[in-house]
This record gives sequence, structure tokens and C-alpha cells, in this order.
Amino acid sequence: MAGGGPVSLLDVSDVRKYFPIKSGIFFRREVGRVHAVDGVSLSVEAGETLGVVGESGCGKSTLARCMTGLYEVTSGTITFDGDMRRDVQMVFQDPYGSLNPRRRIGSIIADPLVIHREGTPASRRQRVRDLMALVGLNPEHYNRFPAEFSGGQRQRVGIARALALNPRLVVCDEPVSALDVSIQAQVVNLLKDLQTELGLTYVFIAHDLSVVRYVSDRVAVMYLGKIVEIAPGEELYERPRHPYTAALLSAASVADPDRQRDRVVLRGDVPSPISPPSGCRFHPRCPKAQDRCTVEEPLLLGDGHKWACHFPLEPGERLQTRTEEQ
Ligand code: SF4
Repeated sequence: MAGGGPVSLLDVSDVRKYFPIKSGIFFRREVGRVHAVDGVSLSVEAGETLGVVGESGCGKSTLARCMTGLYEVTSGTITFDGDMRRDVQMVFQDPYGSLNPRRRIGSIIADPLVIHREGTPASRRQRVRDLMALVGLNPEHYNRFPAEFSGGQRQRVGIARALALNPRLVVCDEPVSALDVSIQAQVVNLLKDLQTELGLTYVFIAHDLSVVRYVSDRVAVMYLGKIVEIAPGEELYERPRHPYTAALLSAASVADPDRQRDRVVLRGDVPSPISPPSGCRFHPRCPKAQDRCTVEEPLLLGDGHKWACHFPLEPGERLQTRTEEQ
């Protein structure tokens, strides 16, 4: 690692993850590929929270699974400064679906300890009780089943399980989006407190821009399998340079009556990741698109604040487009 500067815990270099599409009953052959992640490079620094935002289907959850080793990448490399199987853990989106309803939560939380042959049955039980207390669950509820817990409590179970092996990096894949709004803040604040207490590094995947802003030191914006902009959080939210980031932010500002008239409405739907558009993938929907955008792919360039756009917004410039009638 380079001396002096921030230390990278995880390096993602030109990672692609394609899923084959097969057709035919007897002889199944590949007829296409979903380009879920298509040439992503980024690094995660020790102690930071890197937020990753984008609409559903942009590839952010696939990227999360590549980062944790759950998916083998199609090409590119992921380098982690440590033992990836132990030191990188994941908190999943769905606290209902990710816990086996027939198992007691004590044994669910103990799974990583058992898999990695950590300690004795007695020491594992104690560790699980300590973890339950750490995430705000009553250790007396060790023998209860998931159905006896609320959504927020189940997500605490998922967090306790992810922390069982003392990981260094936790990848949180939409950890609060399945929860009631009133519960979301509690779980987000718990994650923030745990980060301070345990010195954790987070990758925080979400489509909710306000949650990502609250938790993240830096934010990466994904569109159709690529990172289109990455910057320190406040910089990205205050001075977006990529038109897609500006459109996402304006769509999220509808709750603010003063800004409703500035709302940008993007044309059309997100194109298919099976055959992404040529040049800049955002060009069919971009209000600033010009001929060059249809043929030449923009590179993600910059220092600290990077964007992939031939005609970026100037700092403070507003995206000019249709406004939605309210
Ligand atoms: Fe829009 Fe062109 Fe920039 Fe792509 S490169 S975001 S189409 S202006």
C-alpha cells in the first residue's frame, strides 16, 4: 500500500459480472448475457463508509456480492487486505427471507463461528449472547425463532451474525429498505455506532439517497453496471457533475416544496443490461446528450471527485429539462 495516503482495504479493478441467458429445451445454449456489472474499479479505504446508489437493476447488489466473494467475477480482480472469507461479511436486504424460520436465532448467529470452527460450544454460546447484547437484542431470547421478532429485530439478528467473526469490512446490501421508516433510523444509527465502537469499514448499498448521505463518507453512483460518478458525500450531493446524479438528486428532492419545480424527469426506462446502449449508456435518457455521446464511451476521470461524462454540469449548474406538473 502507498505510504502516507489512505489505506485501501479492498480494491476492485475493472470487475465485470455477466450472467448467461440460456435458451432451448434439450440443448441449452447461451443466447445472450446480462451485463450486471461492467467494468467497475474502486477502492474502499479502512474505516470509511462507501455508499453505492442507483436505481434497481443498476448492478449495485451484484457488485456487493462480488465484493464479498459470493459471486465469482467474470473478469477483473478484487483484492482484499486480509482473509476475505473471515474478514468480509454481508448484511442482507431482506430480514424476513435471510433467516431460516425453523432455526433458533442463537444458532443462526452462531453459524459463522461453527463454519470457521471457532471456540467450543460453550464459548460460542457466550459469544452469541454478547453479540445479541451488542446489537440491542435481549440475550435471553437466544432460543426464540425468527417469527417471534419484528423486522427491525430480525435485521439486528442479521447484523449480529455478520459481526460474529469480528470482520473488518461489512457490505450492507439495502439493509433498511425492507423496514418501516420509523425503524430505519434505529438500524442505521446502530450500524453507525457499531462502526465507531468496532472500527468497521462499510460498503453501504441503497437506492435511498438520503440514507446514503447520512451514513457515507464517499458515494458512488451506478448506472447500468458502471460507476458514473464517485465523490466525497457532501461534494456529490452539493455539486453533482454527472447528469444522471443530478437527475437522481432532483427526483429525491420532491419532498421539499421549494425544489419541486426543479424536478428533472428522465425520458424513458432504464435500457436493458443485455444490450446496453453504445457510447455513454445514459445517452438515450440524458438531457445533455450530443452526437459524441452515442459513439464514445466517457471514462471515469478526476481526482477525488470523478465522473464519466463528456459534457458534465458545471458546479452549481442545474440540469435543464422538463419539469413535472404537480
Ligand atoms: Fe449525458 Fe453525454 Fe454526459 Fe453521457 S456523456 S451523461 S449522454 S452528456
